[in-house]
Amino acid sequence: MQTDLLKTIVIVGGGTAGWMTAAAFATALKGRYRIRLVESDEIGIVGVGEATIPMIQIFNKIVGIDEAEFIQATQGTFKLGIEFVNWGKLGDRYMHGFGKIGQDLWTVRFDQYWQKMNALGRAKPLEHYCITRMASKADKFLPPQPNVPNSPLNDIAYAYHFDASLYARFLRRLSEARGVQRTEGRIDHVSQRESDGHVDAVVLASGERVEGEFFIDCSGFRGLLIEQTLKTGYEDWTHWLPCDRALAVPCDSAPKLTPYTRSTAHRAGWQWRIPLQHRIGNGHVYCSQFVSDDEAAATLLSNLDGKPQADPRPIRFTTGMRKQAWNKNVVSVGLASGFMEPLESTSIHMIQSSIQRLIDYFPDQGFNPVDVAEYNRQSRFEYERIRDFIVLHYKLNQRDDSPFWRACADMPIPDSLAHKIELYKAHGRMVRTDNELFTEFSWLQVFEGQNLVPQAYHPLVDLQSEASIAEYLESVRQVIVKCVEVMPDHQAYIDQHCRAPAPKPAMV
Ligand code: FAD
Repeated sequence: MQTDLLKTIVIVGGGTAGWMTAAAFATALKGRYRIRLVESDEIGIVGVGEATIPMIQIFNKIVGIDEAEFIQATQGTFKLGIEFVNWGKLGDRYMHGFGKIGQDLWTVRFDQYWQKMNALGRAKPLEHYCITRMASKADKFLPPQPNVPNSPLNDIAYAYHFDASLYARFLRRLSEARGVQRTEGRIDHVSQRESDGHVDAVVLASGERVEGEFFIDCSGFRGLLIEQTLKTGYEDWTHWLPCDRALAVPCDSAPKLTPYTRSTAHRAGWQWRIPLQHRIGNGHVYCSQFVSDDEAAATLLSNLDGKPQADPRPIRFTTGMRKQAWNKNVVSVGLASGFMEPLESTSIHMIQSSIQRLIDYFPDQGFNPVDVAEYNRQSRFEYERIRDFIVLHYKLNQRDDSPFWRACADMPIPDSLAHKIELYKAHGRMVRTDNELFTEFSWLQVFEGQNLVPQAYHPLVDLQSEASIAEYLESVRQVIVKCVEVMPDHQAYIDQHCRAPAPKPAMV
């Protein structure tokens, strides 16, 4: 057995994708490979992408990031879920809270007992059985408490909000300290080997050649290597996710530091709200077929908590994925590999899982096609399943106040999603295959939050008497009430553990 090792890996791009990859490689490859990163200050980064999901904690642990230091350096806050406003009907409000709903006790899952009692009018709304949702309502936060092992307080799933530019800067410091070599400059063209078309160097406008055997394309939407050079092709999903533009604007903070992202549906799209320590990040994602840029900007600006700190910045995109994430000796990571709108804050997670897959299928000079094919199969599976979950939010709307929402409710959907909806409709059942990202608890909260009521509940629920189910639900609810009571205010927790220094005033 022989392994012909790679020597130099070149990461093209220094946004979130580039620096996350650099930090992970610098840690995992233990200094045995030369890692170079090329980025252009002139081009800059997309500069959005500030809300995450709980798996980011795994990335931080692997890379060895100290939580308090990271929060301070990025003006970060904690996130317990996403609140959805106006997504079912106008005026509706529900939350997709991280972590579990209820507590399993008998033969079938907790939510099946809740479905029955809810239909009988003998249960509280679903949120009462979820600690992250109730804590969010109270603007409270606490990380899991290992000293109370059998309590929901030991099972609090959370993520972060952070400033995207500060995050890239934080990871850059860490990566350079671990040996990553950064080159600043605009790549002018890409050089390919004649024999097989593998990329062998990127050439900067200055004339400098940066050579390597393995290239990670983190160049953002343009896909400098994966698309512009290798012409890999793109699968367009705008027939399922028709929003194609966004406007982003920061504004002054509100008096309460909420521990969740908010997504408010508007006439032809939706608006995100991401609270940080020093500002709130906002953006309007919309469909240009149904609303003009001016109207979209006016809607965004009239729905801010504080004074805007800049003019809205436009971003255009096409939802979909690269036909192959890995082609020849180039792997695309981040926006270069595809785009999914940030409704469920999944893109940074997809960067993280691409990096994990890259480590699992790390090549040698042979670039075995079997490994490449498996990497691509797994990437596609992940993309498609996340896509289905996001499409669900649009498909299940009952809004009749705008042509956009009516078109979304009427659109055909992928078979894989139709199957999940049918399964839920019949008996409130949910299926999770392989290790797709979103759990049954996530699907349940969107189904229920957007008013899809199953025709029946699991037949085995009737093995328990109504009185004992009522008692069981009430005991779970009361435990959560008590837990939330002892949790500190989100702001107080940050002040005590990870308060960021006040940002320097802008130069005039
Ligand atoms: P970029 O940030 O665009 O970086 C590209 C890099 O390539 C830059 O350093 C650039 O200088 C370099 N580059 C490009 N061309 C050249 C060249 N010719 N020469 C040299 N260097 C070059 N994700 C989430 O998880 N949560 C969110 O809340 C979220 N919100 C989003 C909202 C919007 C509107 C959008 C568009 C995306 C959002 N995302 C979100 C996605 C997230 O922003 C991205 O996944 C993340 O920022 C990664 O971007 P990137 O590093 O791939 O690209």
